[in-house]
Amino acid sequence: MANNEESRGLKSLFDWFANRRKSGSTSLERQEREIADGLWHKCSKCSVLTYTKDLKANQMVCVECGHHNRVDSDERIRQLIDHNTWKPLDEHLRPTDPLEFRDRKLYSDRLREIQEKIGLIDAVNTGLGQINGLPIALGVMDFRFMGGSMGSVVGEKLTRMIEQATQRRYPVVIICTSGGARMQEGMLSLMQMAKISAALQRHKDARLLYIPVLTNPTTGGVTASFAMLGDIILAEPKATIGFAGRRVIEQTLREKLPENFQTAEDLLLHGFVDDIVPRTQLKNTLTQLIALHQPVLTPPHMVLWETMSLTSTAAE
Ligand SMILES: [Zn+2]
Repeated sequence: MANNEESRGLKSLFDWFANRRKSGSTSLERQEREIADGLWHKCSKCSVLTYTKDLKANQMVCVECGHHNRVDSDERIRQLIDHNTWKPLDEHLRPTDPLEFRDRKLYSDRLREIQEKIGLIDAVNTGLGQINGLPIALGVMDFRFMGGSMGSVVGEKLTRMIEQATQRRYPVVIICTSGGARMQEGMLSLMQMAKISAALQRHKDARLLYIPVLTNPTTGGVTASFAMLGDIILAEPKATIGFAGRRVIEQTLREKLPENFQTAEDLLLHGFVDDIVPRTQLKNTLTQLIALHQPVLTPPHMVLWETMSLTSTAAE
């Protein structure tokens, strides 16, 4: 009798574990299915599951640990630019393959595949718009397009946008993310560094404001040119910012580099960036900086004083 009860007890315990395992695996499967469907997002840093809608509402910043997930250029524009004020520039510019470059694939095939996959023509979106009512010229790089690499189209679009900004007396903001110059375009991609820098110098000569925002990752030729030429340089938390990669430097120096090497925080400590701004505060920070640097109208008493001194000089 006791044995029977014991075995019944054991059996029910087995059932309980079996059921639990079964329901556990079902909920795990369901969880995985929902992640695959894009309903939930699993944070790559803290592994916490967030409802994708909530994550988007928080500008793709993890609500648990503050990890800044990558955002595409369209989403960035939505986050920063006032509704219905965005006017894209030079959307017709298309990359070509002047060197007929081939690695494992033809560069022209690579371009066509990525264009079809993500619906962008190249790695940057440029345009004019308003940020909390203030006009700006904005360039947003997109890491999905060949690692945000800078080829002729990226260079030309940014240069034309900066030239428009200089003419209209608009401030320029560029959201940077890039693996560097596009090797498939060889020297043509490297000369974009000089071209964009020259356009920025003319913008600067006109006493206009330029703010690059360095996001994860900003490296290579982009860091070596327009990303570091800002009047005020902002970065997103924990962004990797550097020229050559960590591995290359470690192999050259034969030294282990510190954990925080090439992070936004380390660059701030050494004066390479001016501030680290969480994405959720970026629009307001940019607005404040731009508003502070609006051209000041000469106060009336100064005009009177200048007129008086001119008259007295003429009288002499
Ligand atoms: Zn997280």
